[in-house]
Amino acid sequence: MSRERPRRSDDALSGARAVIDLDALAHNLRKIRTLAPNARIMAVVKADGYGHGALRVAQALVGADALGVARVAEGMALRRAGINKPIVVLEGFSSSEELAEVRAHRLESVLHHPSQMEMLEHAPVGEAISTWLKLDTGMHRLGFPPAAYGEMMTRLADCAAVAAPVRLITHLASADEQDNPQTLKQLECFQAISAQHPGELSIANSAGILAWPQAHADWLRPGIMLYGVSPFADSTGGEYGLRPVMDFSTRLIAINRLSKGDAVGYGGRWICPENMAVGVAAVGYGDGYPRHAVSGTPVLVNGARVPLVGRVSMDMISLDLRTQATARVGDPVLLWGRELPVEEVARAAHTIPYELTCKLTNRVERIERSMVNASRQDAPLR
Ligand SMILES: *Cc1c(COP(=O)(O)O)cnc(C)c1O
Repeated sequence: MSRERPRRSDDALSGARAVIDLDALAHNLRKIRTLAPNARIMAVVKADGYGHGALRVAQALVGADALGVARVAEGMALRRAGINKPIVVLEGFSSSEELAEVRAHRLESVLHHPSQMEMLEHAPVGEAISTWLKLDTGMHRLGFPPAAYGEMMTRLADCAAVAAPVRLITHLASADEQDNPQTLKQLECFQAISAQHPGELSIANSAGILAWPQAHADWLRPGIMLYGVSPFADSTGGEYGLRPVMDFSTRLIAINRLSKGDAVGYGGRWICPENMAVGVAAVGYGDGYPRHAVSGTPVLVNGARVPLVGRVSMDMISLDLRTQATARVGDPVLLWGRELPVEEVARAAHTIPYELTCKLTNRVERIERSMVNASRQDAPLR
C-alpha cells in the first residue's frame, strides 16, 4: 500500500470539492437566449442553486431578467445578500407572516391557492405586490383550475395589495418526454385561458425550452439547463451546447493490493476476480455521492475511466484500478463534471442529475472558477 503525500501543497486537502464554473453559467444563459431571443429569462436558483450556491449563481447571472426560488426564505436570503433583480417565489407565501416578508423584501409571488387570495384580501395597507397567477393545466400539483381563472382575475383586480398587471404561469408535467401527448393538452388548455389574458405568460422549464418551442411564451424558467445539465433521460447538456457548471472531485487516499477472492467494502458485496489494485477515494454519501450508485458506475482517476466497486459508504468509495497501474495516493478523482457527465452517473445510481447536484452536502468545499473575472478565480468560499 502506498502512503505518499498529496502532490500539490496548494491543494493539500483530500476531501471532496465542487468547482463551480461561473463562465459556464454565463455561457449557458447566453445559449438559452439564442433559443428564444424574444423571451425574458427567470433563472431558477431554488434549492441553493441546485447545489451550486444560490447567491453565487445569482451574482454570476447578471444577464438574467429575474430569479426564481421555491420558498419565501430563499428569496429573503438573496435580497439580504444584496441581489436586486426581481425574485419570484414559485410556491408563493403560505402564511400572513410570509406575505409580510414578501412585501418587505420586494419579492414577487406565485398565487396558486384560495388561501393565498384570502390572505391578500386581508393584508394591511402597504406596497402592492407583483403576482403570477398559477393555472393547473394538467399537472395537478399547484394551481387554480382553468374554470377559476375569471373569478380569480376579478378578485385580484379588486385587491389593493396586488399590483397590476398580473402575470399568468403554468407548469408542464411531462415536457421531458417528447412523445408524451400530455404537453400538447396542457398547452391547449393554457392557450384557451391566455387568449383572454392581457398580461405576460410563462410556461417552459428547461425541457419545455428545449423540446417545445411553442411553449416559450414571454418568460422562460430554466433551471437544470443553466447548470449545463440535460433535463432529458437520454442525453447530456453538451448535446445542446451547454457547459457543465459543476466539477465534483476528490482524491485517492489509499491503494490496496488485494488478492483474488477478497471482498471489498460493507457487506463484502464485491469480490476481487483476480489479484488487483483497489483504490479508495475520499467521497461518500456524507458528501452527497449517491449511495445507490452500482458497481460499475464510472469515475475518472487521472482523467481515465474506472469502475466503482462495492458499496458506497459515508466517507469513501472503492475503485477498480486494474487499468490504472500508475495511480498514486493523492491523485485526482472526478465524480462528475466536464469530463464525466452527471447525467451518466445519475443513470448508474437510478436517479436524475437534479437530485445529485442538489444533494451535495456542506462538507463539500465549493470553489469558484472564472477566467473572465480573474479576481474570483479559484477563490475558496465558505
Ligand atoms: C424548478 C422549476 C423550474 C425549473 O425546472 P428545470 O426542469 O430545472 O428547468 C421551472 N418552473 C417551476 C415552477 C419550477 O418549480
